[in-house]
Amino acid sequence: MKDYKDLSARSLGQRIQEGTVDAVEAAKDALAAIEEAEEKLHAFLHILPRDVILARAGEVQARVERKELTSPLAGVPFAVKDNLCVAGVPTTCGSRMLSNYIPSYTSTAVQKLLDAGAILIGKTNMDEFAMGSSTETSYFGPSKNPFDPSRTPGGSSGGSAVSVAAGFVPFSLGTDTGGSVRQPASFCGLVGWKPSYGLISRNGLIAYASSMDVVGTFTKDPGDALMLMSMLAGKDPKDSTSLDFRFVSDTKKPEAKGLRIGIPTDLLQAGVDPAIRKLLYKCADRWREAGASVTELELGHSGALIPAYYTIACAEASSNLERYDGVKYGYRADQYAGLSDLYKKSRSQGFGAEVRRRILIGTFVLSREYYDAYYRKALQVRRLIAGAFEAAFRSFDFLLTPVAPGTAPLLGEYEKDPVGQYASDLFTVGANLTGGTAVSFPVGLSDGGLPVGLQLIGAPGRDRAILRFLEENLPIGHELPIHPYPCII
Ligand code: GLN
Repeated sequence: MKDYKDLSARSLGQRIQEGTVDAVEAAKDALAAIEEAEEKLHAFLHILPRDVILARAGEVQARVERKELTSPLAGVPFAVKDNLCVAGVPTTCGSRMLSNYIPSYTSTAVQKLLDAGAILIGKTNMDEFAMGSSTETSYFGPSKNPFDPSRTPGGSSGGSAVSVAAGFVPFSLGTDTGGSVRQPASFCGLVGWKPSYGLISRNGLIAYASSMDVVGTFTKDPGDALMLMSMLAGKDPKDSTSLDFRFVSDTKKPEAKGLRIGIPTDLLQAGVDPAIRKLLYKCADRWREAGASVTELELGHSGALIPAYYTIACAEASSNLERYDGVKYGYRADQYAGLSDLYKKSRSQGFGAEVRRRILIGTFVLSREYYDAYYRKALQVRRLIAGAFEAAFRSFDFLLTPVAPGTAPLLGEYEKDPVGQYASDLFTVGANLTGGTAVSFPVGLSDGGLPVGLQLIGAPGRDRAILRFLEENLPIGHELPIHPYPCII
């Protein structure tokens, strides 16, 4: 298939339904694209065996021909971040701790895609336990940005972003606890959708910070994200925090005319690349011309976003990661003297530096002496932040912000400045702390030829409204996708 790399998931699925493309051919095209560039980009931690992929594509093709499978995803290849369990397939979370782990069950989100006939190609690289913004904390080495392989694709779902941007698969799943879908999407010229908390089941997602973790999508356009929403969203008896799909209540297409969009200027004060700021105001002008009202607002509590997020995320992580003790499953040290030495050595050797740092911070803020001063305080601050967002959403439909203060950094840059890396999550963590939805969308390239993304944030349940609005009103006028794999051709 000549144009495989340019097709959206919808158009590929439609061709398979119409019989102009065979699912086995589509799978072969995916494998050929991977063969060509994976060594350079390192999107995957595990690729399923070729015969397994082709056999499954053959089965799906036969069912499509018998008209048993009519889903728009039947035969469409996809990739999954390596923190979502798939039965029988290694699921490492980018960590030495789980380097030998093969789950016995499949996460609900992945199962729904498999049931729709989508073809799983492999598990993608990620920051260890989803802690990071560049895939550089992966035990297995970083992924590279297809626009410039000397740069990071972002993270923590960097491998999933690369798998779509490089044209390996038309869509992929990632997870977003503080920006890990939106930021790599923006660094790789893609649409990254962070669903409202609870909209997609977390069953089978290896936990980082459970009150903020969501499964999200990487696509080439907002239409694919909408299609995936209708497949993935919904109440799951295996996840008590999951919500009924009817929660996403907007059914009518939001017109730009009359829409109220706010730009939170206090967030922008922290420092944003002038080129990104310029694109943001250009986007605002476009939407004004289309009839929206775009005005500035003071969100409030913006200085508290990063401290609250990292205090809560580390606290939850330290509790969630307690289960990796070298006894039940996962990595176990070879030599130890007694039980506490087994715990100590297995955890010190199995976890990388960033994960250990966060466990230490989390254990500290949850300790009896400091609980009130840090953890309880962070929960109170989270409540204030939620109040600020609720107030903003009484006056505005959506908030428009950058996704990150700059474009994709060079590999190694974040390592020199871990606190600077934390600070770069300023624009994304708000939606996680408050449970809302947010979508990052590409608006163009910087002077250096790197993708720039912007973000629309909405109140919980406005997922469909934002995606539908973007479907009609992507701003800058370039064609999507931004030419996505320039380093390969
Ligand atoms: N960069 C953020 C962190 O390290 C977000 C990670 C994520 O969303 N998984 O916590």
